[in-house]
Amino acid sequence: MRKPRRKIWIDFAFSIAIITLTITAIFIISSPGLKKEQKNNSTNATASVSIESIESTYPGIKIVTEMSNDKKAPYAIQYPQSTHNLFNEKVLSYINDERSNFLKRMDQLKKIKKDPTGELNISFETMQHKSGHYSFVVVSGSNFSDGKTHMTIHSFHLHPSTGAMHTIADVLNRDPENLTILSSRVKEALIEDPSLQNKLTDDYEKWLEPLWSNFSEYALTDEAIIFYLNPQIVTDRTIGQPIVSLSLSSINSLLLKTYQSEEAAPVKTDEHTEKKPEKPSQNDNTKDDQTSEDNMNSHAEKPVSKRVALTFDDGPEPKVTPQILDILKRHDAKATFFMLGSRVEYYPDVAASVQQAGHELGNHTWNHPNLVKLPSARVIDEIQKTSRMIEEVTGQKATAFRPPYGAVNQRIRGISDMPIVLWDVDTLDWQHHDPKKILEKVKQQTKDGSIILMHDIHQTTADGLEAVLTYLENEGYSFVTVSELHE
Ligand code: ZN
Repeated sequence: MRKPRRKIWIDFAFSIAIITLTITAIFIISSPGLKKEQKNNSTNATASVSIESIESTYPGIKIVTEMSNDKKAPYAIQYPQSTHNLFNEKVLSYINDERSNFLKRMDQLKKIKKDPTGELNISFETMQHKSGHYSFVVVSGSNFSDGKTHMTIHSFHLHPSTGAMHTIADVLNRDPENLTILSSRVKEALIEDPSLQNKLTDDYEKWLEPLWSNFSEYALTDEAIIFYLNPQIVTDRTIGQPIVSLSLSSINSLLLKTYQSEEAAPVKTDEHTEKKPEKPSQNDNTKDDQTSEDNMNSHAEKPVSKRVALTFDDGPEPKVTPQILDILKRHDAKATFFMLGSRVEYYPDVAASVQQAGHELGNHTWNHPNLVKLPSARVIDEIQKTSRMIEEVTGQKATAFRPPYGAVNQRIRGISDMPIVLWDVDTLDWQHHDPKKILEKVKQQTKDGSIILMHDIHQTTADGLEAVLTYLENEGYSFVTVSELHE
């Protein structure tokens, strides 16, 4: 009986010691950081470094930006800052390491080459789980004039109200058996990823063994957990860290209660023969079909009319988009516009007028690349930059994502924090440039719940739209946004 008591006492003493040590550590780590900032602010050196921090759209999180315009070795660094010191110190120490590694490499290069140059970029993406848990995915990339490049993804986690920084072990209940199951699930997903076919190294399994460290880089959304794995898994160096995403509902039993998905066990309802609208956006999804069963069980009120979602891609366009807005307004029709970030930047007023007219805003990447062929860090950049631009210009968030060419795989799905929306009616307006053919295609393919693809960058699309709207109205369709369609 005495033993446990002594143990508790020892534990207590240890906790005090650890807390003291931690507080000391914070002071030691934070003081050089503070000095540095002061030095930078009262700058009189040749290369100017600026540090600025702004509120993010996420409550309790600021974005700190550090820029150096040094001609030979410029850098742009962004990282999150919270109200929790321990978290801030962890992030800052990582950032400082990345910066000093970069500068060290520049020094090494100077010894071998004359006038070397290099560049460092660090940016991050924020994801939030409904429990409040933030995942910050920090992408650090550098390149040098000798042709060498370097890229790493590192994740940080924070619960904004408690300050908890959950590791993957916390997420999996600290249960080694859960880790073993997870490891085999990740392996399955990796093998099935078409973009990684024939690209796995001979000893890739080594990096998927059930060790916490193999799965330490992760992010949590309401739908999925995303892993950024060891780059040594793949032979193709341009891929960087391969990304695997598992739906939370598929690993529900492994998760700490706060992270469990409510969708895991669909409740059986009485027989219900009402025709379920097909989900065109999911038509390339081959597995995970058990989860789509819950759609059948959703007791939506019986729609008064058939519904159709009109979507316009690749804009905004200063001549065509306003015409399309006019026609939609006359028919009191709401649509979804999948915009390119680069064009939103170029035509902010046109983008803003789409928002003011009450349409849904969608993200269609910055430059329209085929994402399946891009390394993950570039994919993150394409999506993130565009979302930021759309929100900055219109004051409204993009709420759906459409990958260019409809090219998508598990990896891309894992990266997007917005629902991915494809289409089932392709008007081919970009190909034939014939207003009459648009109506023809719509007549042939549209059914209740359809998503129609058009482009608001062709005059011929604007010319054909009136007839399309009139036809669909006469057929009893009402016009909804893609999000309304999937409600
Ligand atoms: Zn497009």
